[in-house]
Amino acid sequence: MTEHNSKLFIETVGCQMNMLDSELVVAALRKQGYELTADVAEADTVLFNTCSVREHAEHKIYSALGRLKFSKQARPQQVIGVMGCMAQKDQELIFQRAPHVDLVVGTGQLGEIPRLIGEARTDRKRTVAVSLDRRDGTRNEVSQSFQSYDPLREPEMRPSPFQAFVRIMFGCDKFCTYCVVPMTRGPEQSRSPADILHECRVLADQGVLEVTLLGQTVNSYKYVENGRTWRLADLLAAMHDIPGLVRLKFVTNYPRDMTDELLQAVRHLPKCSRYLHVPAQSGCDDLLKKMKRGYTIGEYREMHGRIRATLPDAGVSSDFIVGFCGESDEAHNKSLDLIREFRFKNSFIFKYSPRPGTKAFDLLPDDVPEDVKRARNHEMLAVQNQISAEDNVAFIGRTVEVLVEGPSRNAEKRGETDATAGPVQLTGRTSCDRIVVFPGNPRLAGSLARIQIEDGTATTLLGSIVTREYQHGSSALLPILA
Ligand code: SF4
Repeated sequence: MTEHNSKLFIETVGCQMNMLDSELVVAALRKQGYELTADVAEADTVLFNTCSVREHAEHKIYSALGRLKFSKQARPQQVIGVMGCMAQKDQELIFQRAPHVDLVVGTGQLGEIPRLIGEARTDRKRTVAVSLDRRDGTRNEVSQSFQSYDPLREPEMRPSPFQAFVRIMFGCDKFCTYCVVPMTRGPEQSRSPADILHECRVLADQGVLEVTLLGQTVNSYKYVENGRTWRLADLLAAMHDIPGLVRLKFVTNYPRDMTDELLQAVRHLPKCSRYLHVPAQSGCDDLLKKMKRGYTIGEYREMHGRIRATLPDAGVSSDFIVGFCGESDEAHNKSLDLIREFRFKNSFIFKYSPRPGTKAFDLLPDDVPEDVKRARNHEMLAVQNQISAEDNVAFIGRTVEVLVEGPSRNAEKRGETDATAGPVQLTGRTSCDRIVVFPGNPRLAGSLARIQIEDGTATTLLGSIVTREYQHGSSALLPILA
C-alpha cells in the first residue's frame, strides 16, 4: 500500500549498525511516500530503533514510550513501533510495559516494516515480528529467520552525504558472557562479496567518499564462493579499485582474528584508514576468562605488537567494561596499566550492567557496588584522557590530511553553517581517526584538506588549512577557502 504525506519520526539509539538499520528502514518508507519529521507530535508513525547492550539504553526507550501514552490517546491513528535489539529481546514484554505500542519488530524483520505499519493502521491490531531464539531451531533455521536485508539507502540518515556504512556481516557467534548481541542479532553470517561491492559502487556513484564496513566482529568476515575464500583483506583490495571512494574503514575488530594478512592489506592499500578499533575489555586474565573473550592479555599484547610493527602510525582504540563480576581493585589496576602500556587513541568505557539472556546474568553475581563502578569509570577515563591529550599535543606543528565533514557541532548549535559572515568552525578526521577542528568555508565539506596542527586536547586537534587537495566531483586543485 502506498501512503502519501505520512509523517515519520524515528529515534535511533546504539551503535553504527543501528544507524545503518534506520537508514534502510527510512529509505523503504520514503519509497512509500513518508516524509521525515523531527517533531514527534506531528508524526503519524513513530519508530524507536533500540539497543539492548546496556540497561540505560533500554530505560531511555521505555521512558520515551511512556511519554507517548497520552499523545496516542489523542491520535488513535498514530502507529508506534519498537524495532531492533530490544524488540528481539523483550518481544511481548514491550506490550505489557507500553500497551499503546502497535509493532515490535526484531533486527531480522526490518524489511517488513512498511507492510506491518500499513496493517497496523488498517487493522488496528498489535504485531510482534521477531526471529527465532537461538535455542529454537537448527543453526540454519535461526540464520534464515534473521535475514532481512534491504539495499535501499537514504542519504539524509547518514553521518554526512559522503560517508556511508555498509554491513558486511550479521550477528555474532563469540558469546562473550556479558553480551546480548548473539541473541538479538543472531548467528554470524557474512554477506556475499558481490552484493557488498555492488552496494559500494552504487554509493560511490551517489557521491560517497568514505565507506565504513560494519560487523560485530568485522575482521572475522569469511565467505566461500566457487572454491575461493574471501576475507576482509580481499574485500578491501576489491573495494580499493572502486572509483570515487577515497577512504575505507572497518569496525569492530575481534582481537583473535587480527591477521597479518589484514594488517598488510591496510598497510599497502592507501585508501585504508590507519585506524583499528580492537576492544580489550579488561587488562586482567581472570576477568577475560569470565567474560569468555577468547584471549589472554599476553595474546592481546602479541596482536598489538604486530599492529605497531606493521602500522606504526595507526590510531588504535579500545572498549573497556568496568565493574564486571568479581572485578577486584587489582584487576581494575591491571586495566589501567593496559591503557598506559598500549596508549590507546581513545577508549569507550562502560560500567557493567547485567543483561537478561546472557551467561553472566544467569551465572555470575553482579557484585561490584555501583559507587565503585562509578569511581573506576572516572579513574579509567582520567587515565585515558591524559594519554589522549599527550598524544594529541604531540601532533602540534605537524601537517595532517583530513576528510572535511562540515561545520562542527558547536558551529551548528550557534547556527553558523554558511560563510557569508566569514569562515566557520569545520570538523574533519585524519586517516588515523583523530578529530580535527579548523576555520574554513562549509563548501569544503567532502574534500581532503591539509591542516597544520596548532593545539590539541584529549578529544580534538585544532589547526588551520594549509592546502585543499581534492573536492568531490572535481579533480582540479582549488583555491584555499579559509
Ligand atoms: S564479540 Fe562478544 S562483545 Fe562483541 S558482539 Fe560478539 S558476543 Fe558481543
